[in-house]
This record gives sequence, structure tokens and C-alpha cells, in this order.
Amino acid sequence: MQHEQIRSIVIVGGGTAGWIASAALSKFLPKTIRITLVESEAIGTVGVGEATIPQIRRLNASLGLDEDAFIRATQASFKLGVEFVNWGRVGDRYIHTFGDPGINLANLHFHHYWLRARAEGSTASLWDYSLHHKVAYANKFGRLDRVGNSSMTGLAYAFHFDAGLYAAFLRKFAEAGGVTRIEGKIEKVSLNSETGFVESISLDRGDVIAGDLFIDCSGFRGMLIGEALGVGYQDWSKWLPCNRALAVACERVEPLLPYTRATARDAGWQWRIPLQHRTGNGHVFCDSFLSEEAAQRTLVENLDGAMIGELRPLRFTTGRREKFWHKNCVSIGLASGFLEPLESTSIHLIQSNISRLIELFPTRAFERTAIAEYNRRVGHEFELIRDFLILHYHQTSREDSEFWRYCANMDIPDSLSAKMELFCGNGLLHKDAEDLFRESSWVQVMVGQELEPAGYHAMADRLSAEQLTSFLKDVRRLIDRAEASLPGHSEFIEAHCRSDRL
Ligand SMILES: Cc1cc2nc3c(=O)[nH]c(=O)nc-3n(C[C@H](O)[C@H](O)[C@H](O)COP(=O)(O)OP(=O)(O)OC[C@H]3O[C@@H](n4cnc5c(N)ncnc54)[C@H](O)[C@@H]3O)c2cc1C
Repeated sequence: MQHEQIRSIVIVGGGTAGWIASAALSKFLPKTIRITLVESEAIGTVGVGEATIPQIRRLNASLGLDEDAFIRATQASFKLGVEFVNWGRVGDRYIHTFGDPGINLANLHFHHYWLRARAEGSTASLWDYSLHHKVAYANKFGRLDRVGNSSMTGLAYAFHFDAGLYAAFLRKFAEAGGVTRIEGKIEKVSLNSETGFVESISLDRGDVIAGDLFIDCSGFRGMLIGEALGVGYQDWSKWLPCNRALAVACERVEPLLPYTRATARDAGWQWRIPLQHRTGNGHVFCDSFLSEEAAQRTLVENLDGAMIGELRPLRFTTGRREKFWHKNCVSIGLASGFLEPLESTSIHLIQSNISRLIELFPTRAFERTAIAEYNRRVGHEFELIRDFLILHYHQTSREDSEFWRYCANMDIPDSLSAKMELFCGNGLLHKDAEDLFRESSWVQVMVGQELEPAGYHAMADRLSAEQLTSFLKDVRRLIDRAEASLPGHSEFIEAHCRSDRL
């Protein structure tokens, strides 16, 4: 028997999470479902969250947004990866790019051919075979799907953008799609006395808003999922100890880099995110190892342009909700958990959780099996990303501060130890269909931070020594040619998507 369909959805919160949820639900659900979003300008949003990963292009495309219009509206620039400075040891740098280094040959990942060449005396780095690396350090960019007629894929890219402008852009889209926005501060959440389901929310000015399905996008507070429904939080700070951030913008300087920079500091790291009109900066740190005053000093002394506005302090606890979906409430965004911004994964989690919700969309019976499946999948994705982030902190030779000694020596989850041990042998990689980070991401961070395998896969020996040399030369030739054909990053923006606000 078909249960009754959901008739109304109430979204609590108008930050990036609330507006992405509104835009996607209004686009994909039938218009018979009423969608209301409640937000409070007086409370405001977290407002940071300026770096993204290539999956955002899928969200924009699925909504039918024009990419150049989106870039102009959000003052965006292009991103080819994240440059990690001083992570493995002080003085190191590598880029975790969005592309695969080299070309995979005969079903074998490229890094095995590189490892074999090294074993035979080559001194070339893995990044000498990375198109993204070459283009990023040349400050260039172009929309390149494929390199010539070779089997090398072109440039995978994401964006740096102004998160407030992105939310405003999506708000316009969602309102045009029928979403009703209500301004007001929620003062009370009413639960059904028998089922414990959320029945309604009450605003400061007296309105009561009822609904079938509630989406909690209220930020770190988790007003519905945590405060009203009492769902607990798993704290992961023993593995990811940073719990504070200071954010500030500074004036744009040339050149406009097509990548995010994450520089490790004494007790955390500093981000640098170049936008068309300014550069976003922040210092993520752990307050057990560094005072706020010292963190401020480090941030301000390391800006590369004149500071704009005030420093914004933020506090967080890395971890996840025990359940992401409980009864008739689904938490999305910061209300569902927080993984620190080192690999720019939060906006991705918002979009992947909304697509899971659409896939497992309930009826008014709120099927337990669909809820359990949603919680399983989201929890698994959180854990996979958690492991990848811990790798950055744990795989270090730094011994120069108490924070880095702690990270290098801390116990790590068994799931991560297994992945690292597997790689240390013959460069083999753990594969999980739900892992956001593909094999080439794991390879780049492991090699970038000096976790190097003892050997390589036997299949790499199928090439003769001459064939291997000529294959590696060809890869470099293709990369050089592709890079030479591209315009500068600023030049590309100027020609295609310069913001009208500049
Ligand atoms: C330091 C830091 C850096 C980050 N960097 C990145 C990054 O580079 N890339 C990335 O992908 N993500 C990043 N993130 C995460 C990103 O900022 C968030 O995922 C994103 O902003 C979503 O936030 P949100 O919408 O869940 O919450 P918020 O932005 O906090 O929005 C909460 C909403 O709920 C409303 N609200 C709350 N209480 C009430 C109430 N009582 N009544 C009415 N309305 C209410 C507020 O008004 C607001 O509209 C970063 C986060 C931090 C802390």
C-alpha cells in the first residue's frame, strides 16, 4: 500500500546548507510539496567556506546554473588543488591536485611506473608528471577536457568563492522555484507527545510553522537535531584536535593563484583563498597548544595584502552527530557534524547528503529502513573523510612543536592504519566506492608527506626499460604542450567571467 506522500518541508536556517537544500529540493521534488525556509538575519551565518572541490560543478550543473554567471555573481576564481606547505616537514611543499598524475596504463595506476623508474635511479618527482601541478604553478587555467587526442584527462577544477554571495545566488534560484522564505528567530520547537516527531517551530513574532519533514540547517547549534531531539555528538578531537579558527580577508595581490594554500603553523594551519576581489585567510588552531593572541599574531603577520575588516573568531568540535536523520528531522551542514576545512569538504557533504535524502525520500510513514540506510551512508562518508584528514596531521616528520609531536605520535583509527600499511608495501591502495577521495588523492598526500612504498606492482615490469623511459617522456611532453597552450588564470577570468562588481 502506498503511504501518504510528504506535503510540506520546513528548512531551518539560511546559511550555505539551507540555501543549497532549498535550491535542490525545489528543483527535484514535485511542486505539490510546500517548501518553507526560516532564517534570522539577527543570528546570521558562519559565512566562511570559500574553497570547494570539483563535485560542486555537478551540483551547479544539476541545478542548470550557468557556470560563468555563477562565477561572476560569487566573485569566484578557479581552483586546481590545495598546496600543502610545511606539512611533512618544515620547508616542504606539494599540491594535492584534483587530477591524476601521469596516465594509468594497462589498468595500473601511474604511480607504480613512477615508483619503478625511481627504483631504477630516476630522480623525477611524482608531480613532474602532473598536468595540474604544472598549470597551477604557471598560474594558468583553461577548460580542458582532454589533452590533445591522448588518453590523458584534462583539468578537473573547482572554485574559490564568496560563500555569502553563493547563498544569495541560490536564494534567488530557490525563491524563483517556489520556496517561501520567512525571516524570524525560532524560539520554540514543539514535539508530538506520542511519537516525539517535530510538529512545528514557533517564531519570536508569534508565527507557528508546522511541517511533515524538517531539515535542520541551523548551524553548529543543531537546534532541532541536538537541542530538541537530543541526538548526541561523537567528538573526534583526539584525532583532529584543532578547535578554533580566526578568519579575515585581505586585499588581492598578484598573481591570482589557481589553488588554495594551506600552510602548517606551530599548532594548526593557515588558509589562503584567492577570490577575484579579495583574498580570504584564516588560522585554524588548537587552543590547548596556542593562545588566541598568538594565533592572531601569526595570522596577521602572514597576510600578503592589507587586512580588510575585523578578525572573526570561530569555535568548533570536529565530529559527527550520532544520527544524522532522526524521526522526521534530517540535519544537513554544520548541524550534522564538522570536519575541519583542510580539504574543503563541508560544502560537498551538504550536497551529497541532500542527494542521498532525495534518493531515499520518505513518505509520511518515515520508513525506518530508509532512515537507517541514510544514516549508514552518511556516517561512512564522514569516516572516510576523517581518515583522509588525519593522514595529513599524522604522517609528518615534524617534531618542532608540542602540537606536531602530539599528531605524529597519536593513535589513529585502525581503518587509516590499514590504508597506510597497504601503501607502504607495494604502493597498493584501499578502494571504497563511497570514498570521496579517489586513489590519486591518497597517493598524492601519502607521497607528498613522505610515506613511500618499499616496492611497486609487478605489472609495471611488463614494460621494457626503453618503453618505460619513452612512456614517461611522452607524459611530460604532453603536459608541457598542454600547459603552453593555456592562458593565465587572471587572463581567463578577464575574458570569460570577470565579476561586474569589480
Ligand atoms: C573555520 C571554517 C572554515 C571553513 N571553510 C570551508 C571551506 O573552505 N570549504 C567548505 O566547503 N566549507 C568550509 N567550512 C564549512 C562551511 O562554512 C559550512 O559548511 C557552511 O557555511 C554551512 O553552514 P550552515 O549553513 O550549516 O550553518 P550556518 O552558516 O551557521 O547557518 C545557520 C543558519 O541557521 C539560522 N539560525 C540558527 N539559529 C536560528 C534560530 N534560532 N532562528 C532562526 N534561524 C536560526 C541562522 O540565521 C543561519 O541562517 C568552514 C567552516 C569553518 C568553521
